[in-house]
Amino acid sequence: MKPAPFTYHRAHDVRGAVESLHELGEDAKLIAGGQSLVAMMNFRLARPSALIDVNRIDALRYLRRDGEGLRIGALTTHHTVESSGSTAALAGFGVLSHAARWIGHYPIRTRGTIGGSIAHADSTAEWCLLAVLLDAQIVVRGQVGERSVAAADFFHGFLTTALEPEEMIVEILFPRPAPHAALSEFAQRKGDFAIVAAAVDLDVEDGVCSAGRIALGGVDAVPIRVPEAESLLQGAPATAETFRAAADAAAAAVEPGSDAHGDADYRRGLARTLIERACAQAIAV
Ligand SMILES: Cc1cc2nc3c(=O)[nH]c(=O)nc-3n(C[C@H](O)[C@H](O)[C@H](O)COP(=O)(O)OP(=O)(O)OC[C@H]3O[C@@H](n4cnc5c(N)ncnc54)[C@H](O)[C@@H]3O)c2cc1C
Repeated sequence: MKPAPFTYHRAHDVRGAVESLHELGEDAKLIAGGQSLVAMMNFRLARPSALIDVNRIDALRYLRRDGEGLRIGALTTHHTVESSGSTAALAGFGVLSHAARWIGHYPIRTRGTIGGSIAHADSTAEWCLLAVLLDAQIVVRGQVGERSVAAADFFHGFLTTALEPEEMIVEILFPRPAPHAALSEFAQRKGDFAIVAAAVDLDVEDGVCSAGRIALGGVDAVPIRVPEAESLLQGAPATAETFRAAADAAAAAVEPGSDAHGDADYRRGLARTLIERACAQAIAV
């Protein structure tokens, strides 16, 4: 299939992109890496009347550290994060560069952007899952200025977010993870979106978890934290038994749907296995 007709516009800065969104109306869409949008247009699942190409806005390609954490410009590609693991900007944020390796194939990672992924809001997308796990802030710009939305409030449902039609994501701010963090996932073929993905963030001192976070993708319309499992980590020894108990609690707490990739029980089983795996990987870091 080919896309429905659209007009093409190019923005050279954020102000121009936002103005174009305002002028062209709510059927206009930004195009970043095009790795999700073009496929949706080709299948006619998306029929934007106009595309605003933001790829020339180089000011939105950065990885920057400050007192609040790691700021990633919206047009930073998955591959840039993946290949920056050993840089000073990503010190302590290794979970991000490791997670980027799970995204699609190499050509997809060199074109696709973190802002596009967060805007697309697939529940198993690695950036969406890590944003929820780490309480990231999504910084968006519109006609009336900038606002920051907590990841927990940003994802509203299947491919649906808090983004207004005239707004553009400009930055994602990730607070520093706990010392032990990892993401694990299962897909039927390498490079596919995960069926289920699990991410954990563990604070371990003298063999005891002082705090732990667990987030799952693929068990709900949006990535979710699992407080029923997290409470079992707090104050518990960082052992395989503790991680299994937390994984069991998470599997019991979630209510996944069924689709062609697997039914609810299959997804619960994956969630259990992937949480245990992510915890084991996290404490090995
Ligand atoms: C075969 C295949 C496998 C893939 N596997 C994975 C995977 O395993 N994990 C994963 O996470 N992703 C995967 N993807 C998707 C890929 O990561 C995309 O790059 C990503 O979902 C969208 O980023 P993009 O820059 O390409 O956005 P685009 O496709 O250009 O845009 C996607 C949506 O976001 C909007 N948008 C883009 N940028 C902004 C912005 N700054 N502000 C507001 N709205 C914006 C667009 O209007 C559009 O609605 C896969 C894609 C393919 C084709």
